Amino acid sequence: MSKPSIGIYGLSSCAGDQLTILNCEDELLEIASRVDIKSFIMAQTGNDETMIDIALVEGTVSTRRDLERLKEIRSRTSILVAIGTCAVWGGLYAMRNDIPRAEMIKGVYGEKGLEYFEPEVLPAEPLKNFVKVDLSVPGCPIEKKWFLRIFKSFLHGDIIELPNFSLCSECKMVENECLLVNRGLLCLGPITIAGCKARCPSHNIPCIGCCGPVDEANYAAEVNILLNSGYTIEEIKRKMGFFVFNPDLEQSQ
Ligand code: SF4
Ligand code: SF4
Ligand code: SF4
Repeated sequence: MSKPSIGIYGLSSCAGDQLTILNCEDELLEIASRVDIKSFIMAQTGNDETMIDIALVEGTVSTRRDLERLKEIRSRTSILVAIGTCAVWGGLYAMRNDIPRAEMIKGVYGEKGLEYFEPEVLPAEPLKNFVKVDLSVPGCPIEKKWFLRIFKSFLHGDIIELPNFSLCSECKMVENECLLVNRGLLCLGPITIAGCKARCPSHNIPCIGCCGPVDEANYAAEVNILLNSGYTIEEIKRKMGFFVFNPDLEQSQ
C-alpha cells in the first residue's frame, strides 16, 4: 500500500505549531518512514507542491498572498487540517481590538501607512472563513500528544476524537485548587476547550484561553462570577479578547 502523502504549511504565523511537529524528536523518524512528506518548507528542501492526501496548515489568513496560498493548498489536498489556535480561531493575530483598524495603522505607521497595507494586508481570520476545514486542532501551539494522536488515527483510518469539554474538567482531574472560585483570579478555564491538561492552573497561573473556546461556552456564568469577584467588564473583555472570545459581554450581565 502506498504511503499517504502530506504537506505541512504555514500562513501568517509564528511557526510554533510547525516547530512542535519538528520537536517530536523521538517520533520524527517513524513519522517520516510512514508518510511521504511532499512539502515542509521549514524542515526540508526540494518540496513538491503536488496533489496530496493531507495538508496541515498553520496560521491565519492575514494577507492576500495567504488567501491565495490557502485556496491553492485546498485545491490539491483531500483533507485539510487547521493546526493551532490561529488557524482554528484567528488566535493572537485576530486579538480583539476596539481601535478602528485604519486608525491603528495610521498611529503606528504614519499618514502613508494605509498605502503600504492596502490592499495586500487583510484583517486576520481563521481558515474556516475561506475554505472547507476537515479537522481543527487548537492550541498555541498545538499539543504534541494531540498531533501524534491524530497522526496515528489518520494512518490507521480511526475516528479522530479531540476533547470537547472545558478545561475545568481536566483541571479537576489533576486535583488543582480552583483559582477562580477559591482565589478569585481571572481564569478562563470554564469557557476554554480542554487538551493541555490544565497546564497553567497547575502552576498557579490562571488560564487565558489559548486553546480557544469550548462548544456552548457559558459566557454569562463566567462573567457573573468575575463581576462578583470584583473585576470590571473592561478587564474581563480585555482578558477574553486575547484569543478571540468575543461574546457580547454587556448582554451577559
Ligand atoms: S497558534 Fe500560537 S503557536 Fe500557532 S501560529 Fe498562532 S501564535 Fe504561533
Ligand atoms: S482554576 Fe481555572 S481551569 Fe481550574 S477549575 Fe478553576 S476556573 Fe477551571
Ligand atoms: S491552561 Fe489555558 S492558557 Fe494555559 S496552555 Fe492551557 S488553554 Fe492555554
